[in-house]
Amino acid sequence: MPHDDHDHPHALLPPDPALRVKALETILTRKGLIDPVALDEIIDTYQNKIGPQNGARVVAKAWGDSAFKQALLADATSVVADLGFYGRQGEHIVVVENTPEQHNMVVCTLCSCYPWPLLGIPPGWYKSDAYRARAVREPRKVLAEFGVELTPESSVRVWDSTAEIRYLVLPMRPEGSEGLGEEDLAALVTRDSMIGTGLPKVPS
Ligand code: FE
Repeated sequence: MPHDDHDHPHALLPPDPALRVKALETILTRKGLIDPVALDEIIDTYQNKIGPQNGARVVAKAWGDSAFKQALLADATSVVADLGFYGRQGEHIVVVENTPEQHNMVVCTLCSCYPWPLLGIPPGWYKSDAYRARAVREPRKVLAEFGVELTPESSVRVWDSTAEIRYLVLPMRPEGSEGLGEEDLAALVTRDSMIGTGLPKVPS
């Protein structure tokens, strides 16, 4: 193996994850194992092109079209694939519907499984040890910290996403949204409302 300073950039790096990732990328690129252009494209796709707006479109459509909603609840993976939302971490998506009686909330207790084609890359807190442990142990308290206050008659159900099943919450359509078209409805759907740690915006 070549052994000069240029091939050991990590030796002098502080334990900063971003720097370590950069170092790994540099080494893999030099060895010809990855193409940095392809890597940039993947990151750009999931950071900028695919984001919660895809999930918001699906929710808005479900709010306005009950046949679509029933199909979505029955087999989300193929229904959203028909809309063009598929790909990495998009296999086996299950949609769970919020009702006045049941609020749903999603976590991945093992790591950070998440429906990428619908929501993009998960937020930092979703991957945190604290959220992963507490969402299951004290969901109401976690929800309150996110500003979600549920009525006493509403139960909370926590869904543990895995590589096998990735959950998406279908929030309740907010009051005052009657008569809005799909695009305006989609603008009310927040990322957190589809994880269950938030509620949709109320139309102004
Ligand atoms: Fe995971």
